Amino acid sequence: MQTKAERIAAAEAAKPIDTLRYPWDAHPGPDQVVEVLPGVLWLRLKLPFRLNHVNIYLLEDDNGWAVVDTGFGNDETIATWTALFDGPLKGKTVSRLIVTHAHPDHIGQAGWFVERFGCPFYISQVEYLQGVYHRNRRTEERVVNSRHFFRRHGMDEAITEQLLGRGQDYLKKTAPLPAAYRRLSNGQDITIGKRSFRIITGAGHSPDQVTMYCAADKFYLSADQVLSKISPNVSVWAHEPDENSLGSYLSSLTGIAAAIPNDVLVLPGHGVPFYGLHDRVTQLSEHHEERCQMIADACRDEAMTSAQLVPVVFWKHVLDAHQTGFAAGELIAHVNYMLAQQRLTQTLGDDGVLRFRAV
Ligand SMILES: [Zn+2]
Repeated sequence: MQTKAERIAAAEAAKPIDTLRYPWDAHPGPDQVVEVLPGVLWLRLKLPFRLNHVNIYLLEDDNGWAVVDTGFGNDETIATWTALFDGPLKGKTVSRLIVTHAHPDHIGQAGWFVERFGCPFYISQVEYLQGVYHRNRRTEERVVNSRHFFRRHGMDEAITEQLLGRGQDYLKKTAPLPAAYRRLSNGQDITIGKRSFRIITGAGHSPDQVTMYCAADKFYLSADQVLSKISPNVSVWAHEPDENSLGSYLSSLTGIAAAIPNDVLVLPGHGVPFYGLHDRVTQLSEHHEERCQMIADACRDEAMTSAQLVPVVFWKHVLDAHQTGFAAGELIAHVNYMLAQQRLTQTLGDDGVLRFRAV
């Protein structure tokens, strides 16, 4: 039987020849704005996590600039934006704000932006409502439901408490949401300045994340749906315990590769711009399939709980509290996907814990 390291090495060797290219290996510094294409600006804002930055793009519009995403909802982000609008963005007005999804690193300062610039706020309906939902998240009923969910997946009390602690502070990570929004929908075409963009939304990382494709100038704002070097988190959470978020994510990737050619410049929500969209989509799909294989191998001889499977899949990582929550959610996403594909069966033990076995 292969060791884990051998399995990883074999999987790496089996990957197609890498055609990914990263034209900007250096990213903009904290007070810099980089023009990646005529009328397309890229800047970065800091995040207080191991993933320490988020990318922001500005698109030239008729009466100013459309800003895509806002950064985390803390005072430091406001200070950075203020310095940018006093510095490299001086004299630029914001024509509209577009937010790709409701995670705090993207929507965090939407309320501040709309208040400061009096601009309209564009987002998909589901992401807007997701933001509203998250800002109401810590009710006693939800805590009870989450505790039940984690216990059912075999997490012990200490981990359950840790998981309940994280993610409960969305209010601290986001400014109040704008009270009104303009809806972006999958398949819609919108005009920004001289350019037309096709809106392509996708689930998995977030329920209806907005990505934007400009066919004429061959570039694609992929948000967190396709990232350059890391795999976006795809999780299942307690409010929809049977969700097949990984299945949705993988179909979204297939749809993106079908709708957009390989030779576009991809502008992702984190990391650096790149060429090789189809190669990256293949890598991301293979990455999830490798994890499914690890789960199938581990569940072949004995039934395993999700808690037991976390170290099987995430053996390479030393996880902090923030990452433990994401790891548990990701693991359950793989399990639910494999259940939907009938690659696993589940039984509920007398102890109220789910155990999975490979078919
Ligand atoms: Zn993000």
